[in-house]
This record gives sequence, C-alpha cells and structure tokens, in this order.
Amino acid sequence: MLEFVYTANPARVVFGPGSLDRVAEEVARLGRGRAFVLASPSLSAERARIEVALGEAGRGTAAVGGFNGVTMHTPVEVTDEAMKVVDSVRPDCVVAVGGGSTIGLSKAIAVRTGLDQVVIPTTYAGSEVTPVLGETEGGRKTTRSSPAILPETVIYDVELTRGLPVEVSITSAVNAMAHAVEALYAPQANPAIDAWALRAVGLLADGVRRIAEDPSDLDMRSDLQVGAWLAATCLGSVGMGLHHKLCHTLGGSFGLPHAATHTIVLPHAMAYNAPAAPDAMAQVAAVLGVPDAPAGVYDLVAGAGGPLALRDLGLSAQDVPKAAEIAGSAGYPNPRELTQDGLTRLLENAWAGARPEPA
Ligand code: NAD
Repeated sequence: MLEFVYTANPARVVFGPGSLDRVAEEVARLGRGRAFVLASPSLSAERARIEVALGEAGRGTAAVGGFNGVTMHTPVEVTDEAMKVVDSVRPDCVVAVGGGSTIGLSKAIAVRTGLDQVVIPTTYAGSEVTPVLGETEGGRKTTRSSPAILPETVIYDVELTRGLPVEVSITSAVNAMAHAVEALYAPQANPAIDAWALRAVGLLADGVRRIAEDPSDLDMRSDLQVGAWLAATCLGSVGMGLHHKLCHTLGGSFGLPHAATHTIVLPHAMAYNAPAAPDAMAQVAAVLGVPDAPAGVYDLVAGAGGPLALRDLGLSAQDVPKAAEIAGSAGYPNPRELTQDGLTRLLENAWAGARPEPA
C-alpha cells in the first residue's frame, strides 16, 4: 500500500508578466527595507530597475549595497568577498535577480546571516524554491539543506526571460527536466510530486521543441517558467539520485557548466537507472510521446540543437574514471546499485555523445 511523508516548503510565489515591478512591495511585505541587491552579470539593467523601484519615495525601502562577482557553483571564497560588503552595509534582506548562480550566492549570504530573500529567477535552474545550497571549496561541491536557505518570496516575471539565449534556454530547461525525472524515482516520491513532475516534463519538453522558432514568444516562455517552478518544487521536496551527483561532481571538481552538463548527462543517467525504475521511465516516455524515455530525451536535445557530448564542454578522456570515482564515493539514494564499471561506462557514453540504446 501507498505510504509517504510529505512536508511542503513554505514559499510565496508571485507569477506574471511585469511582476518585477512588485519588488519593493514584496520587500516591504516581509517587514524589510534595506536590500542588498545581487544580479547576474548580464542583467545590469534589471538590477538598476530594482534599485530605482526600491528607492522610490514613500515605500520605506532602499538598495543599500550589492556585489558584482557572482560565480557559478558558489565558490566559498567568492561568498567570503560578498560577506565583507554585507558586513559593511548591514542590509536586512537580499534581493537577487538572475540565474541559479546569483540565487546561490543569495542563499549563501542568507544562511550565514539569517537575512530574508526576495529572488527573481531568470533561468529555469529552479534554485529559488529549494532549501538547498551547493557550495564549492577545495575542488569539491557539497550541498546542505536548511530552512534558512529557502527564499521567502519568489517573483517570476516572464519578461525577464525573453532575452535568455536559445542555447542557454534549452540547457536550462533540460536541467529543470532532470529535477522532475529524478523526483519520479526518489525514495520520498508521492502522488503530488509525481503529478507535478510529469506536468513539468511535458511543459519543459514542449518549450525545448518550440524555443528556436520564436524565442520571444511569451506564452511559451511562461509555460517554461511554470515547468521550471514545478520541477524545482520536486527538487526541493525529495532527494535526488545519480544524475544530480554526477553533475555536481562534473561541475564542482572539473568546472563544467551546470546546465549544459545536466543536459548531456540526463539521458545517460536515465538509461543507467531505467532497469530499476521502469514505471518512472514509462511515465516519462508517455509524456514525451516516445517508446523509450532515455533515448527520447537524447533525441529532444539533439533535435533542438543542444549539447550532446561532455568532451565538447572540455572534459578530458582521462578525467572520466576520476569523475566516476568521486561520484561513486558519496552515499545518496539511487534506484539502481552503483558500480565503478557502470559509472565509468555511463560517463564514457556521455563524454562521446552516444545515443543511449533503448532497453
Ligand atoms: P547561471 O546563473 O550561471 O546563468 C547562466 C548564464 O545566463 C549567466 O551568464 C547569466 O548571466 C545568464 N543569464 C541569466 N539569466 C539571463 C537572462 N534572462 N537573459 C540573458 N542572460 C541571462 O546558470 P544557471 O544554470 O541558472 O544556474 C547554475 C547554478 O545554480 C549552479 O551553481 C547550480 O549548482 C545552481 N543551482 C542550484 C540549485 C539548488 O537548488 N540549490 C538548483 C539549480 C541550480
């Protein structure tokens, strides 16, 4: 019989075109007024809009400082630099606009200070609704989870995603899809999470198929944002398995870019786990309208012109066994037993960009 325990993460979600304009209202709603503003490097105009909105007379809010050095995989030494500025300007909240790297730094500051966060995601990475923080130190990426890490308020403004480059949009959407796929075979899976995960896979796959036609189609972008939110809620609610561990290893220890790595590894991690998670694979295949889920995800990425081979991201063939060893060394839930040979073969296939053979 079905048995599960489910605790929903409390997060306020403000969704809709133009919702960036509500940032000052949302800061004030939390009872805060002195904001430390973080922005992805390519979003300086949005950062300026936020600073102006916070500074408008009569709101009781202001931008009191910020930091420009956001770096992927949240290196601890970068957070230490940002913390020096935080300590000098003494904000009472963080406002972050950008991708997962910017939101990662926001979380790293929040967990060190207890500051509230209003975050405005502009990719589909999904960090905004999870209580999880991944940090890199000494060449290893480790994650921790705490209620203090979870942002209080998330503003999804689809207009901010209009200019997200097609290539980044594809990899970011498949990154989101990976959260949903791994949630389906997580030990804590439950009917609510399954429903959200499958809806997310459908919305994200549809967006990946359509994005190149018209990247500025806001209805399609809005669907992608909904898919990203649902998938990220899965990520924040249940434990992730082999796929996420491999990507953390490749990002944290080998410096590979987060979303592109997820995009390449996902079909291969699915193929590895397929024999032990037949129901999850059958459900994903049905949503994608294909006979085999891992091959279907590979074909989706190939059809959209996304990346297929880890060697194209700069991973050397010699690094493959080392990555397999690191990814196999930490304990985490996975439906199929992990073996060094199996992990090495999986990574060799992902390195070469081979299409997974249907089971
Ligand atoms: P990113 O934040 O580095 O953004 C990728 C690139 O896109 C950057 O150059 C950025 O400036 C640019 N960009 C972002 N939004 C844009 C927009 N709207 N228009 C134009 N350019 C834009 O990458 P990401 O993939 O979003 O996030 C990756 C990071 O997030 C990794 O460090 C990963 O570990 C973390 N992450 C954490 C969680 C979690 O739950 N803790 C979940 C997902 C990702």
